[in-house]
Amino acid sequence: MKRRKTKKIKVGNVFIGGGSPIVVQSMLKTDPENLQLTLNQLKELKNAGCELVRIALPYEDTCKVIPFLKKEIDIPIIGDIHFNHKIAIEAMKRGIDAIRINPGTINDARKVKEVAQIARDTKTPVRIGINIGSIEKRVLKKNGKPDANSMVESALYYTKLFEDVGWTELKVSLKASDIVQTVDAYRKFSKKSDYPLHIGITEAGPIFSGSIKSSIGLGILLYEGIGDTIRVSLTGNPLYEVIAAYHILRDLGLRKRGVNIISCPTCGRCKVNITEIVTELEKEISNIEQYLDVAVMGCEVNGPGEAKEADIGIAFGANKAVLFYKGKVVKKGIPKEMAKDLLKEEIHNIVS
Ligand code: SF4
Repeated sequence: MKRRKTKKIKVGNVFIGGGSPIVVQSMLKTDPENLQLTLNQLKELKNAGCELVRIALPYEDTCKVIPFLKKEIDIPIIGDIHFNHKIAIEAMKRGIDAIRINPGTINDARKVKEVAQIARDTKTPVRIGINIGSIEKRVLKKNGKPDANSMVESALYYTKLFEDVGWTELKVSLKASDIVQTVDAYRKFSKKSDYPLHIGITEAGPIFSGSIKSSIGLGILLYEGIGDTIRVSLTGNPLYEVIAAYHILRDLGLRKRGVNIISCPTCGRCKVNITEIVTELEKEISNIEQYLDVAVMGCEVNGPGEAKEADIGIAFGANKAVLFYKGKVVKKGIPKEMAKDLLKEEIHNIVS
């Protein structure tokens, strides 16, 4: 898969674009002023593999949490700012690693220019985050409707505004909850600009349906080489956003992290409770960082073939199971009630 060449920028200690690994990010969902809850969630996200975290900064006063959080945890924090450009300025003065502004909600080029000047002076990278639901009035008036073209036009206008003040540590997002419009906007923008792109389907929905929607949208873009950092927006615990993001990247071969479970859907031939085994296994392996293919197969039809191809695999028969490691049988005749524990043990042996 050939990735589109983009400018490389750095947020904290994380490179974005220019051929760097695609960065996984998420957003805190706690009240930012509840420091303990916020810090706990930051730690959970970091442990799950999140590489950049965004925090909502609804008021200028909220920016006081920035120095505390930065002192407590080593993960770049991006301030999410809408409406009031002074919050962006305050966040940068307080040492935020990067900011995300939505020019549509600030809706005043003069104010965005002020932000650009402070970003340049404080060397703060900026995401110009365009959302279809809040396109600036100027563009809406001209184009008549919020669509991919309007998003692209707005993004280009504001990247130019930043360039004019001499600051180009920028990334751009053009999000809609509609997949087709999102893909259209990113495709068009990426033909006109080489700024790194933060990609995502905004307001994708609940965990299950939102993950599917995000996978389709982000999958199309990533397959075309578009996207330098991803966020899966889900209604629910942000840990699921990180898990879903790594699944998307892993399934496209773009990042190798964690255990990839290959399991059969089961059918009338199956004599063992594969669903229970896989559900338990999924929980057990959720914190493993090392990349590993693990196959769990219900019968002789595809079982041995798939299990052989994985790093480690188990294929069940009527009462017994066979364990494979790197294509070779390592144990036969395993009583089915012992197979699950043996598989878990083998996985832990490999990753320890
Ligand atoms: S591997 Fe066997 S049990 Fe699993 S779905 Fe295929 S035929 Fe059914």
